Amino acid sequence: MHAFREVETAAYCPRKLYYRRRSPEPEVPQEVTARRELAFRYEELLADDAAIRDAPIAVTPTQYRSRLGAAKAGLDDWESLAAPPDRDVFLEGRDCRGIAHKVLDGDPPSLSLAFAGEPPETGVWHPQSVRLIAAAKVLSWERERSVEQVYAEYPAYGVIRQVDVTVRRTAEYREAVRIAEAIDGPPARTEDRAKCEPCEYQPECGVKTRSLRSLLGG
Ligand code: SF4
Repeated sequence: MHAFREVETAAYCPRKLYYRRRSPEPEVPQEVTARRELAFRYEELLADDAAIRDAPIAVTPTQYRSRLGAAKAGLDDWESLAAPPDRDVFLEGRDCRGIAHKVLDGDPPSLSLAFAGEPPETGVWHPQSVRLIAAAKVLSWERERSVEQVYAEYPAYGVIRQVDVTVRRTAEYREAVRIAEAIDGPPARTEDRAKCEPCEYQPECGVKTRSLRSLLGG
């Protein structure tokens, strides 16, 4: 049984998952919690100037409201996303378990995960897609209903994206589960060194990124 975060990390870099499993569970930074909380305040942020002025958003209030306004006008599930019937729901299935930030009791059911970081220009980042599909598969298993679409929210940016549960995304999720199950020693380092820049396991891993080299004066 894998945590959603584990399959997400396996999709990012299997070696990172290896180190994470050997480390104490990290605390969720306060900034991340504060940003995720914005996903439960959309109507307030659209209506209340003082609230949006004080909110930890990463774009201007005008940009934020314009993006959220487009989501409100364009998303069928807006009402459930803005006032979800269930929040921070623990889901547990055959392969994975973890928290869905919102569960939407529509027909078919759906869910949403809120990410503290910046969205890509389109779609969602690959590891986040894997995490979303992991959650979708568990919800589907619990409810005995197919889950066809889920949501990725980037609440500090006012961005909400629909994500279809496709055959390709499902195959990527299954591959991440397979990787997570197969790790019994340190896997190869990722060839995409850009992924190493924000990785907290650089020292153990032995990768020297540009920022680490400059810190070390190398
Ligand atoms: S530093 Fe790079 S290769 Fe090493 S665990 Fe992190 S992401 Fe993977």
